[in-house]
Amino acid sequence: MEMKKAVIIGSGLGGLECGVILSKEGYDVTVLEKEIQAGGCLQGFRRGGFRFDTGFHYVGGIEEGGPLHPLFRYFDLLDLPWVKLDEDCFDEVVIGGERFPFAMGYDRFIDALAARFPSERAGLEKLIAKFRNIGDHIFDAFKGEMNPAFAEGAWDFLCSCTDDPLLRKVLSGTSLKLQLDAETLPLYVFAQISNSFIRSSHRLTGGGPAIVDRLASQIDGEVRTGAGVSRIIEKDGAVVAVGLESGERIEADVFISDIHPTALFGLLGEDSGVRKIYRRRISSLENSCGMFTANILLKEGALPYLGRNIFVHTADEDPWGPVPERTGSVMIHFYPERWPDGSAKAVDLLSPMRMSDDWDETRVGHRGEKYLALKESKAAECLDLAETGLPGLKDAVEGIWTSTPLTWRDYTATESGSAYGIMKDWRNPLGSVISPRTPVQNLFLTGQNLNLHGILGTSMTSFLTAGAVLGRMPSTLL
Ligand SMILES: Cc1cc2nc3c(=O)[nH]c(=O)nc-3n(C[C@H](O)[C@H](O)[C@H](O)COP(=O)(O)OP(=O)(O)OC[C@H]3O[C@@H](n4cnc5c(N)ncnc54)[C@H](O)[C@@H]3O)c2cc1C
Repeated sequence: MEMKKAVIIGSGLGGLECGVILSKEGYDVTVLEKEIQAGGCLQGFRRGGFRFDTGFHYVGGIEEGGPLHPLFRYFDLLDLPWVKLDEDCFDEVVIGGERFPFAMGYDRFIDALAARFPSERAGLEKLIAKFRNIGDHIFDAFKGEMNPAFAEGAWDFLCSCTDDPLLRKVLSGTSLKLQLDAETLPLYVFAQISNSFIRSSHRLTGGGPAIVDRLASQIDGEVRTGAGVSRIIEKDGAVVAVGLESGERIEADVFISDIHPTALFGLLGEDSGVRKIYRRRISSLENSCGMFTANILLKEGALPYLGRNIFVHTADEDPWGPVPERTGSVMIHFYPERWPDGSAKAVDLLSPMRMSDDWDETRVGHRGEKYLALKESKAAECLDLAETGLPGLKDAVEGIWTSTPLTWRDYTATESGSAYGIMKDWRNPLGSVISPRTPVQNLFLTGQNLNLHGILGTSMTSFLTAGAVLGRMPSTLL
């Protein structure tokens, strides 16, 4: 029997993972990537002789019993050189100069924070019991069940656990890896992500590209870079081919889009079976903010390597409010690669950022002096704030390279350079959680925009997409 052919648009984590699943299920897979490097948010780049990551820093839940464990076992990613963060403090929250540890493991997590907030122990226990329960039911999604916590507000639940405004801030303090919004964020998103990292947290030597290489090596077919898809060709209610920017046409039986849905809609013809009403509904959903990133090479011997991330916040920052003009929070990530003397070799600073539309029409490397000045002042603000959580950082800088949400927009084609894609709304879960199926029977969606973002969410979604393509869940998964 002839092999079925699948074309996947976009080589982000979701695209590559769908490619691996369909390869294992006997498909001939072609992954098409517009950039010269595969991986999307998992791409790396070299500056000052060091390999930096773009959108990957740490993962939660890869150890036995954690939600990523069975998924990464399936993808053969468990034996990569993972580096475990410190169990008694994998994330440290610094608010107005005071430090609070996030410890790994449910009991340790509660004990560490209850030591500082003794009267809040019961609230911490309630919070962790809920996180754990939601986390334990993550795979119910594979049975087509939507967790009730999708229809519950994260902020309201947090308030029901503690009245202490400082503890609320602390518990929200590591959440630069999702966008907190008091009105809309579902408890499901807050709990799944928090739960996975509390279970176990790891960095990866070699970073995102190590994941990309391992996934690409399992694809039966090819991952073609420099192959941007410019149109989707439909006939008689099905997609028959994609057209590349080069003019080449590639036919297949099944098509999966790993790109932002609004970018996909731009590739469809006027008479597409993906009706305008469907496109309008999804295009009207809000996207998360983007990130400003400073990738920093450190002087040898200047700073010790730390097995934790540090999240520094100004005293007056509201983590649940809109992204402020002035930098209110910054995450400090240490690379596991070190100098020969064991000192830290590089760190990244990440801070949420919304761009004005001044540079909408510009491209990477051609945005002018005003943009360069903005990047420089944002980097200075981030360094000032980071220094309060990591004294000595400023003097330790050997080289610094920065990027803004516009960099993301141009490299990954995400809407406005959004870091985590389409936001979910607990008041409208059915409207903001997106199905992998589209109105066109052989065109499917995958990636961080559908269900839950991040490495965990995107990996979960890859199985939902593959399940929709195959008409059943891949048999060897759980
Ligand atoms: C700054 C930042 C830090 C992050 N840190 C973490 C972290 O520490 N831990 C974690 O779990 N998650 C993290 N994430 C989130 C995680 O990286 C993403 O959720 C995940 O990698 C998204 O994968 P994806 O497959 O949805 O899409 P993407 O990575 O966006 O991939 C989409 C791909 O499609 C390609 N493409 C677009 N248009 C076309 C076209 N027309 N033709 C061909 N190809 C096209 C793009 O070039 C891109 O390669 C971070 C994200 C950001 C932005």
